[in-house]
Amino acid sequence: MLSEFDLIKEYFQRPRHAAAPPVALGIGDDCALLAPTPGMQTAISSDMLVEGRHFFAGADALKLGHKSLAVNLSDLAAMGARPVGFTLALALPAAERDWLQGFSQGLFALADAFNIELIGGDTTRGPLNICITVFGEVAPGRALRRGAALAGDDIWISGTLGDARLALADLRGELAQPLDAASQRSAAARLHTPVPRVELGMLLAGQGIAHAAIDISDGLIGDLGHILKLSHVGATLDVDALPAGDILATRDTALRRAYSAAGGDDYELCFTAPASAREAVLALAGSVATPVTRVGRIEAQAGLRLVDAGGAPLELQLAGFDHFTS
Ligand code: ADP
Ligand code: MG
Repeated sequence: MLSEFDLIKEYFQRPRHAAAPPVALGIGDDCALLAPTPGMQTAISSDMLVEGRHFFAGADALKLGHKSLAVNLSDLAAMGARPVGFTLALALPAAERDWLQGFSQGLFALADAFNIELIGGDTTRGPLNICITVFGEVAPGRALRRGAALAGDDIWISGTLGDARLALADLRGELAQPLDAASQRSAAARLHTPVPRVELGMLLAGQGIAHAAIDISDGLIGDLGHILKLSHVGATLDVDALPAGDILATRDTALRRAYSAAGGDDYELCFTAPASAREAVLALAGSVATPVTRVGRIEAQAGLRLVDAGGAPLELQLAGFDHFTS
């Protein structure tokens, strides 16, 4: 039987990486120690993944390892912060080697891709629950805040939207026309292994090009709504300009509009930037091979106005995903 301490040592402690700056002390003591770069601010965010709520019971452990870290890194991306390290609080029903092997592999593959280390955490027996806290760095005054959008700003979206929601609908058997095997694989990858837009966020913040940003986790309309509220502005959003995922793009207009505007689990960035920065935004996004699309405009008049390709008002009966109402 694997003890708590053996489990940590075997699956989560990686001495070869320990104490790479700015981590001064990693796993093994009562606290980890960070040595922040002088003059930088620390960005901190936690996200919890609960079985039955955020993923199905029996979900693939490797993909869960990836997604648990990815959704956290996405929050750092939205602030434009450089990831430094993370902690992992894990409740597990049982210490199963296969599960731990897969989970830690998925987790560390993504950690290595961003050159960050697991610096501590907590492990307990209980219903499967994964809580990660990420730490990042950003120069003072550079973080991309939700409240910083200005009337006249363009609204931009990275990547594509809606394929994760499409995969979920397919898994739940909600689609009148289910996905074929290849489409299912492609859409499921967007749902289970999202890639956080860390480089894009860091460049937008570092170069002072963007005003406000948020990562799209609960559906664009809901998440953009947070920017509008905190910035005390409104917006017009061209729903037909939204970049639909490859698979969603093959579906009918109503589904395409609904899932790209209010899907969820996209983990793309929505950011605002002055119209004078259009060329700069495109050049910067191109330099990290991340497509970006202009989808609307921030306006002084409060409220979110949805329009179609011809500029006519659209009524979509949609709302962002809210865990306590849906
Ligand atoms: P304490 O009892 O002082 O809180 P623990 O015995 O829980 O410490 O943990 C021992 C060490 O292992 C600590 O450095 C802690 O941060 C680390 N740790 C515990 N669980 C995890 C985990 N799931 N992932 C990474 N590190 C962990
Ligand atoms: Mg202790």
